[in-house]
Amino acid sequence: MSLAPHDLPWRRALVIGLGASGREAARLLLHLGLEVRVYDRNPEAAIPEGAIAFTGAPEIPAAALDGIELVVLSPGVPPGPHRAAVARHAEGAAIHGEMSLALEIVGRRFPGLPTVLITGTNGKSTVTALTGELLRAGGLDPFTGGNLGVPLSTGILALLRGERRPPGSLVLECSSFQLETMNEASLHRTDVAMVLNVTPDHLDRYPDMDAYADTKARVFAGLAPEGLALLDAGDAYCGRMRAQIPRGRLCLVDDPAGAGATIVGEGPGHTLRLPDGETFARAELGLAGRHNSKNALFALAAARHLGVDHDACVAGLRAFCGLPHRMVKIRELDGVAYYNDSKATNVASVAASLDGFERRFVLIAGGRAKGDDLGPLRALLARQGRALVAIGESADAFAAVADGVVPWARASSMDEAVRLARGLAEPGDAVVLSPACASYDWFANYGERGDVFTRAVFELAPRAAAS
Ligand code: ADP
Repeated sequence: MSLAPHDLPWRRALVIGLGASGREAARLLLHLGLEVRVYDRNPEAAIPEGAIAFTGAPEIPAAALDGIELVVLSPGVPPGPHRAAVARHAEGAAIHGEMSLALEIVGRRFPGLPTVLITGTNGKSTVTALTGELLRAGGLDPFTGGNLGVPLSTGILALLRGERRPPGSLVLECSSFQLETMNEASLHRTDVAMVLNVTPDHLDRYPDMDAYADTKARVFAGLAPEGLALLDAGDAYCGRMRAQIPRGRLCLVDDPAGAGATIVGEGPGHTLRLPDGETFARAELGLAGRHNSKNALFALAAARHLGVDHDACVAGLRAFCGLPHRMVKIRELDGVAYYNDSKATNVASVAASLDGFERRFVLIAGGRAKGDDLGPLRALLARQGRALVAIGESADAFAAVADGVVPWARASSMDEAVRLARGLAEPGDAVVLSPACASYDWFANYGERGDVFTRAVFELAPRAAAS
């Protein structure tokens, strides 16, 4: 099976940025028979076979844009200056991000595939994976990916090459960077679109929170007339985003007015109720925390909208065992529990992870700061913290937050952080790596940070038993 080039309205494409998704988009376009040029500032960037390279120059060479009809912008590339260059040199060229391009091709080739789009500051991957699990249990054979896991272009390329069978549905995690470059016309018909929450993050990229929330709200742009939009009723930007839903039905999640999808009761026996009154026992999902009750409501509402029946939803909830690097208890040593929450890269996610946490904790936090206010961490430490170990570029700012509230120490490596945290913890406590920062100062990504932490924890030797 192959899509003839004339099925697409473009002949010549330029891919800007050769990260994983840019490379995948280039490979997909090459497979479809387009002339593909690639640009990256980095002269060492790996060039997909068959592409014409314009790498190494600080700006896009005008020759690279000559005659271009399609421009693909990578998520890591701030779109502003590049959009301006495209407007100057390739007026009229279509601009897509990798996901937008892939959706455009899906819409042409597999029209009517049930589609769920998921965005939010925190919880995207969890809800994407859980929704995938529910749809799988319901026989809808989803492709689950996007920002999480496999780029959609990779999935389509495998499909076009006959290496995988067509999925029965799409569940896509969308970052705000991917939504920035989402061509609204490509969102042909979205069945379910959701924004889980909007809290401070990426303020180094957006002028203000309103701009960030508006980017998230783009997820609703292609909602089908009979589609379902989901928003957290308690979110500070709920009203603003609600006004940007063009059509379809809105369901509010965790609405204190009791409408919408709600959490009924408190504690381990609470239930999750959908708007039609259908309930699910919270205990069916093995992930702790109130934020995960909300995550489950988003996923359940999506799955039921797509026709997954009640029993399949229960089976999906039971089958889901969470994702790595998100509050995973990795070891209990000398009465102290060690948790890897490396994925908590902003203050709100640290607060969600530790909300309702049952132990006092030594928090290991810091890294590349993203501009959000650290104030809420101070309250968290005052309430339940034992101590703080500050790491990374922003260690001083974290130490200042703990100062006068709990004892703190500063570490210059993850090994040292783990050793210091162990020294500060008392039996019955937890040591939690929940950094509230990006990892790029010391590590390649949050996964590597969590792995290094895990290794350091496993290198700790048990204390000799007192004789
Ligand atoms: P994302 O993909 O958006 O980064 P993840 O599902 O990977 O989100 O979760 C990252 C962290 O965010 C979790 O460890 C948890 O601390 C926090 N989190 C998850 N869901 C929510 C939620 N609904 N609200 C607030 N924080 C959440």
